Amino acid sequence: MSDKAFQICINPDCRATFDIGQVIFACPKCQSMLDVGYDWDRLPVPHRMSFFEPRWCTKGHSVEARLDFSGVWRFRELLPFAPYDKIVTIGEGRTLLEENDRVGAQIGMKPKRLYLQYEGLNPSGSFKDNGMTAAITIASMLGRKRVACASTGNTSASMAVFANKSDPPMQGIVFIGSGKIAYGKLSQALDYGATTLQIEGDFDACLRRVRQIADKLGIYLMNSVNPFRLEGQKAIMYRVLQGLDWEVPDWIVVPGGNLGNSSSFGKAFIELHQLGLIDRVPRLAVINAAGANTLYHLYEKESLRWQGGRFDAAKIGGLYAAMDESHYLPHTVASAIEIARPVNLPKVLRALDFMNGVVREVTDEEILEHKAIVGHYGFGCEPASAASVAGLRRLLAEQVISPDERVVCILTGHELKDPDATVKYHTGLDMKLAVPPPATPPTGVMANPPKKVPDDLDAIAAALGERI
Ligand SMILES: *Cc1c(COP(=O)(O)O)cnc(C)c1O
Ligand SMILES: [Zn+2]
Repeated sequence: MSDKAFQICINPDCRATFDIGQVIFACPKCQSMLDVGYDWDRLPVPHRMSFFEPRWCTKGHSVEARLDFSGVWRFRELLPFAPYDKIVTIGEGRTLLEENDRVGAQIGMKPKRLYLQYEGLNPSGSFKDNGMTAAITIASMLGRKRVACASTGNTSASMAVFANKSDPPMQGIVFIGSGKIAYGKLSQALDYGATTLQIEGDFDACLRRVRQIADKLGIYLMNSVNPFRLEGQKAIMYRVLQGLDWEVPDWIVVPGGNLGNSSSFGKAFIELHQLGLIDRVPRLAVINAAGANTLYHLYEKESLRWQGGRFDAAKIGGLYAAMDESHYLPHTVASAIEIARPVNLPKVLRALDFMNGVVREVTDEEILEHKAIVGHYGFGCEPASAASVAGLRRLLAEQVISPDERVVCILTGHELKDPDATVKYHTGLDMKLAVPPPATPPTGVMANPPKKVPDDLDAIAAALGERI
């Protein structure tokens, strides 16, 4: 394949390179993670970001017009690993950056300072489509027939639809943990025809198994240890910049689970800076759920840092050994970020280093409260996504972020992914149980339960605060 794109070990003492056609998910020499790297000097790179502007509204049916329609491949010069006619796209990444003063006012931001990036508007309803189009493209270039992933839900939904839509279609194989998946997401994997294996164990156990199975059976692995996923997700940042008329914001706030998204944002800005396409870099805030706070613990409590790639791996090993010993299992209502051993940990340290980042944790209560705020004053999001807004509120209270800075919160998934969480918040009713118990009264400050009204005109008018 082309020698202008390659895989490269992120360990500064190794930096071994490999062909992009080689199916490896760690450096064979030192076991570190791999990046997709480019020989930018031999590639056509635009001189300014506004180069991409006219592609927003290209017309026609050419290969290039189809790529322009995608919010990922519109920026194809910035992820140039695939011949254009080999790219598998379903129109992902046509998402919205909304300036939202009403949400901003609720959490203490000044007007015109808070932006919400709605990645739930992707075809499968989450930001995962940005990365999946890139990973399925390389799988298709390699002629793979079967692709697999472990998933808390959205990765499987996204992989399943892309596997179907590639030409020829591939078999999607999904590993889900027991009882840890929102029905909106599970329904997608089933409906798109993925072979779905429910493993007795949590997400981390599923990921361990899928890596073994993929390796032994020659199935292509689509989790975010696959560096091509992260290439596609860089485009979320390109679109944020486009939404801000190519001005760099002060902060990017994003929920952290397996840390692929936050890592890809770091890589996007490292490259944009290196290419001279931006002159300053936003700061990064990664928000964990308190019930799955590995990054928060390591970065903020144990001061684990990138250190030019020579980070203290013993700190990570120590924490994981303690988790094993106490049989620790992560637990949060935000199932998409219920992950205790984030695979992209080294890469997010690099992102936090380059973007002068911070990490915070938020409770399930804060997550649900801020989800309801985004629902009431915005277009809604799933629980994990609201961790970004809840995290922003904490950082405002701590005066780490000032109310007049320009902040972009990434809303990673669509509101309808997890309607049970929403109904439970507003009504107190747990829809997940086979026989729901009587509703416990909702306690959230934004709770908006339906009113019970007799089938009677006067009573209905009275319920609306009127008389007939
Ligand atoms: C996957 C996912 C996340 C976590 O992203 P990572 O890249 O794993 O950190 C957050 N929110 C939603 C909705 C997701 O689907
Ligand atoms: Zn290496």
